[in-house]
Amino acid sequence: MEKLIIVGSGCAGLTAAIYAARANLNPLVLEGRQPGGQLSTTTLVENYPGFPDGIDGPELILNMHRQAEKFGTRFSYAQVTDFEPGDKHIRIKTDDEWLETRSLIIASGATARFLGLDNEEELVGHGLTSCATCDGAFYKNVPVCVVGGGDSAAEEATFLTRFASKVYLIHRRDQLRASKIMQDRVFANKKVEPIWDTMVTKYIADEKGEMRAVRLRNVKTNEERELEVACVFVAIGHDPNTKAYRGKLDMDSEGYLIPKNSVGSNVRGVFIAGDVADRVYKQAVTAAGMGCAAALQAEKYLSGAER
Ligand code: NAP
Repeated sequence: MEKLIIVGSGCAGLTAAIYAARANLNPLVLEGRQPGGQLSTTTLVENYPGFPDGIDGPELILNMHRQAEKFGTRFSYAQVTDFEPGDKHIRIKTDDEWLETRSLIIASGATARFLGLDNEEELVGHGLTSCATCDGAFYKNVPVCVVGGGDSAAEEATFLTRFASKVYLIHRRDQLRASKIMQDRVFANKKVEPIWDTMVTKYIADEKGEMRAVRLRNVKTNEERELEVACVFVAIGHDPNTKAYRGKLDMDSEGYLIPKNSVGSNVRGVFIAGDVADRVYKQAVTAAGMGCAAALQAEKYLSGAER
């Protein structure tokens, strides 16, 4: 029987682990299939307090991991597939076993969305990706495109100009959702060409099964055209990783967990933190804050239950 299991090893999960381990709760972190969460695939993080010159996302998350480990957190790569609430303990199923725990923090984050077009699955890894930091360097001196209009799209477009000959930024509206500073940066970069009011309607592969071009449709004029690109970087947001909790924990129509009293849930002993329950801010620092609060609440719950 575990005292506390933390699902997820992004900013929220690792902050919860640091607090819980320091409180001697001996937490077990189930890291899932993307250890380190979204920060592990970003570039420079400029808005995490305490780093006036910025810090690389993977380095930031590695530091948090080391900090959690230093206080005795245990880690496993397991992925949660099922969940059973109970009066005295909670059961969660990983890929190959059921685990029992007295309390649980769900910080399983969110996964990148794709466009849902034909031949998407075959093309992932062959010129279709959601991670510029992972795959950008493979596309040197060739044209690529980024789809989306938020901070991620702006950040990825700017980053990709280090490698690509040209970066088309394809957005479905005529203005970006990204913050002002990101917009200024992207518009100041001569290698980036925005394509407004436009959707990608088809991926076109070459005879080797690698991305060769995309079909575009202007949503205002309905005009269609083909654009040659060697890679499509999709940055259209994320879906919360909550499948294992469906029908058992309260969630909204898009699958975000609905917090009760800040970081609680509708099941006693289950707490939630980070992007899995945050459809508004989705920042590293807000996720860390929720992770801290969830660990403090779990500690309170366990000490009350122990009496
Ligand atoms: P986001 O802010 O939700 O933006 C998603 C973008 O994709 C929007 O522009 C949206 O268009 C577009 N989109 C959504 N579905 C689409 C579809 N089916 N087809 C075409 N376009 C679609 O997501 P994000 O950029 O990943 O950012 C998520 C959060 O992380 C935000 O809070 C952001 O501030 C934060 N973030 C911060 C930084 C940073 O500060 N360094 C970096 C990255 C992310 P519409 O605009 O028309 O809705």
